[in-house]
Amino acid sequence: MMLRGMAVAGVLIAGAVWNLKYTDGVAATPTPSDESLARHEASAEAGFITSAAAPSQKPQVALAPMSIGNPATAAALDALKDARTAVIAPTVMAMAAPATDPVPEIAAPAMPQTYRTAYKVKSGDTLSKVLRRAGAEPADAEAAIRALKGMFNPRKLKAGQTIDVIFMPSGDTGTKDRFTGFEIPLDYATRVAVAPAPQGGYKAHEFTRDLETQPVRAEGVIDWSLFKAGADAGVPAGVMSELVRVFSWDVDFQRDIRKNDAFEVMYETKVDQNGHVVHNGKIVYAALTLSGERKPIYLHTLEDGHTDYFDEKGQSAKKALMRTPIDGARLSSPFGMRKHPILGYTKKHTGTDFAAPSGTPIYAAGDGVVDYLGWKGGYGKYIRIRHNSEYSTAYAHMRAYKRGMGKGKRVRQGQVIGYVGSTGRSTGPHLHYEIIRRGVKVNPMRVKMPSGQKLKGTELARFEETRDALKVQWASLGDPGQQLAQR
Ligand SMILES: [Zn+2]
Repeated sequence: MMLRGMAVAGVLIAGAVWNLKYTDGVAATPTPSDESLARHEASAEAGFITSAAAPSQKPQVALAPMSIGNPATAAALDALKDARTAVIAPTVMAMAAPATDPVPEIAAPAMPQTYRTAYKVKSGDTLSKVLRRAGAEPADAEAAIRALKGMFNPRKLKAGQTIDVIFMPSGDTGTKDRFTGFEIPLDYATRVAVAPAPQGGYKAHEFTRDLETQPVRAEGVIDWSLFKAGADAGVPAGVMSELVRVFSWDVDFQRDIRKNDAFEVMYETKVDQNGHVVHNGKIVYAALTLSGERKPIYLHTLEDGHTDYFDEKGQSAKKALMRTPIDGARLSSPFGMRKHPILGYTKKHTGTDFAAPSGTPIYAAGDGVVDYLGWKGGYGKYIRIRHNSEYSTAYAHMRAYKRGMGKGKRVRQGQVIGYVGSTGRSTGPHLHYEIIRRGVKVNPMRVKMPSGQKLKGTELARFEETRDALKVQWASLGDPGQQLAQR
């Protein structure tokens, strides 16, 4: 058992220091030139290496006689600073070399190094359960968890999440490796680490990775579907979903998208020191060209700190009502329903049908109050929202209402009110959406959407600066398609 522990520890320690490459579970011998790269890797990815370490295999790597830069050990150093201890314990010195700190490389003698093992949170797990499963003594686990207070609520743990548990190898003493803390990632950039405090007990620290923001430019012509065009241009699906969302006020994604329409998008990525994209950030500029008409939008932060999308003239992309009040990324048919009249689309039809899988979230098209919720003849499960004295919207054939919805309930634009289904007179799962103006159903295809905010004066001038700067940035990133063609 101890041998096995040591073998794992060996791989883990080396894994944290060297940028290991595994082939069929065997660690390749690292080369010194990998060293600087590897040190960055340590903070970012050490936690993910553990699963590759097969306990039965002898790792073909030497233990690197250097400190491991990981947040937990850095935490120990921080704890020391906090305590203003005059004498720094040599063991902690050996542990402490934060990967994010480029200057001090503390030479460590042949001290035992901590290693980490990733544990997955299962459903029904508590943090205490996970730590005890990892081998922590109950009292130790409780003390470490108490240190999180005010920084992270362990009840917020979700099944599937990963916790890195830190151990100190026991060496030749014949005892179990000692639990010395843990780390929980809070998001792509931040983790909270709990490590032993010099005065006893544990202390929690928050660490933020050094990430660079890099803009990415992509564009494409739609041949079959917007999502296919996005994938062909290398745009992550999440970014394409966001693109649909930011145009949902203006564009009916079931009908307005045609062959040879085009998209442009510039979004921010967060990149670590190895150049790996760790997060796809927000869209800062996008344009859809639909049937020859180009609709650009620009992300802009107003003087009051509020951030929103605006068109070329400073008109908010948000309208009082959404044209696509559904998770548009899940629409079933790539092109217009005109070609697919299976859902009973007739001349008399007074709504818009969005074919989407059963269960797709339906959004409130605008702020308002629910004034009808219940079964309504051929409409099946039906919700109507009153937005103001002029406009209402209605949603039919729902599979289910969102929990908590009811008559009189106040809803915000974009809030989920229910889910796509096929209740009532319906031939397949779809959302039947109606816009009602002064009590009369209007054709959503023709209705001029009540518009949102229009920037004026100095706000408009500030926006124009943002817009022009984004245009310059877009141009500076070049046309990836042309670059490819010129090669
Ligand atoms: Zn319909």
